[in-house]
Amino acid sequence: MIVVGAGFGGLGVALSLLRAGFERFTVLERADDVGGVWRDNTYPGAACDVPSSLYSYSFSPNLTWPHRYAAQPDILAYLRRNAEAVRDRIRFGADVVAASFEGHRWRVELASGEVLEADVLVSAVGQLGTPSTPALPGLDRFTGPVFHSARWRHDVDLRGRRVAVVGTGASAAQFVPEIQPLAGRLTVFQRTAPHVLPKPDAPRHRPARALTSRAARAGVWLVGEALTGLLNAGRFSRGIVAAIAHAHLTFRVRDRTVRERLRPRTPAGCKRVLFSNDWYRALTAPNTEVVTETITEVTTSGLRTADGREHTADVLIWGTGFEVAGFRLPLRVTGRHGRDLADVWAGRPRAHLGMTVPGFPGFFLVYGPNTNLGGNSVLTMIEAQCRYVVSAVRHLAETGTGLEVRPAAAEAFDEEMRARLRDGVWSGCASWYRSDDGSITTNWPGGTGEYLRRTRRLRLGDHQLTGGA
Ligand code: NAP
Repeated sequence: MIVVGAGFGGLGVALSLLRAGFERFTVLERADDVGGVWRDNTYPGAACDVPSSLYSYSFSPNLTWPHRYAAQPDILAYLRRNAEAVRDRIRFGADVVAASFEGHRWRVELASGEVLEADVLVSAVGQLGTPSTPALPGLDRFTGPVFHSARWRHDVDLRGRRVAVVGTGASAAQFVPEIQPLAGRLTVFQRTAPHVLPKPDAPRHRPARALTSRAARAGVWLVGEALTGLLNAGRFSRGIVAAIAHAHLTFRVRDRTVRERLRPRTPAGCKRVLFSNDWYRALTAPNTEVVTETITEVTTSGLRTADGREHTADVLIWGTGFEVAGFRLPLRVTGRHGRDLADVWAGRPRAHLGMTVPGFPGFFLVYGPNTNLGGNSVLTMIEAQCRYVVSAVRHLAETGTGLEVRPAAAEAFDEEMRARLRDGVWSGCASWYRSDDGSITTNWPGGTGEYLRRTRRLRLGDHQLTGGA
């Protein structure tokens, strides 16, 4: 068995297999360390916006998180510690470029030309691995240092420099407050004002740490389910989230003109709601300017906006997110009869329960289409998928036959997703949740409780048996 990726998803599958007594698997990781996005996103202030008691494996609670919301170095350290149990099964620097189903087995090809074989293939490459930079005229023109938030240049000293930041999403909300006090002048380009709620963060002292028990975890999970419910329930309940965000903005930003510029105009929750206690402080600092004019081009010395103004800078930072909705996997996956997964998806990625695709026997996606969340921890979803994969592996071990999801089951699931998501909260504005054709391909429409229930048992009736190993 082969697992591609050693982030939360891939390690979760590996650890779950080991816990279930399956030892014959290999994790292929193209980088030289585990951690996925938590290895790549090292920008100042990088931290989790889900409480860490829930942003960790349920089978490996961490009693030593120093904060309620763990910082990136602590999360990466947690993942490295957990990886120890499977480290001898991880191959680093193994860049998978293609996988094809041939003669009842998966033939997995590495960039080096090496070919491996497996009866089960799990793609756990995540949703947020490929940074996105806007296709602006003159992208290569800027002469100073330029980098994306997910590829932070720690060698670039921002002290006293004129820094331009494009984007006001979850990443920018974390690094802008960190770099604002350092920068000589900071220009933040905001296209859409986000809803920002206070972040109830706090250091965790010993008694609180002891509370990292099942009960505390369940409590945080219930709060997440409630937030998801609020965002999904309808306009009125979303209004509650919008009202809290508005009160937060009013409390933090006294100047009416500035407040008006920072006031969200999209429905609450259609983009990710942000949690920060210092975002507005940074945006209203004397050395910060928030620019809301559309960027038209990159110049040698900054960014030009639609009003013709050139905003000069020494350093340019893209906080512009990731290429997600198309789910362009970093590997080419070819199923039965030579069918390419990208062609099957044709711009609208879909998978049964976010994991399996007809015509691709023994192939599983972890954190695949329609399994991201807007209000709770994706770790809950990932763990449900790990258990599901283990059930399929157990079935293969016990019966000698593999499983392939039936087209009818996959189509019914897809229709359900489309119907439930069509007029839901995420259809209200453009975001990384939405594909080019307007459909929501990333997110799960319900609570995690529903997903846990639906994935608890491998429904054999939804599958046809394949030849096995
Ligand atoms: P993002 O949410 O996609 O935000 C990208 C930002 O760039 C948006 O403000 C977007 O504006 C702006 N942008 C893109 N193109 C632009 C252009 N041409 N001109 C001006 N602005 C432009 O990306 P992100 O902040 O990296 O976050 C992505 C996801 O990563 C989050 O939703 C979250 O799931 C995850 N994340 C999680 C954490 C955590 O705490 N766990 C932290 C960071 C990130 P528009 O809104 O107008 O498109």
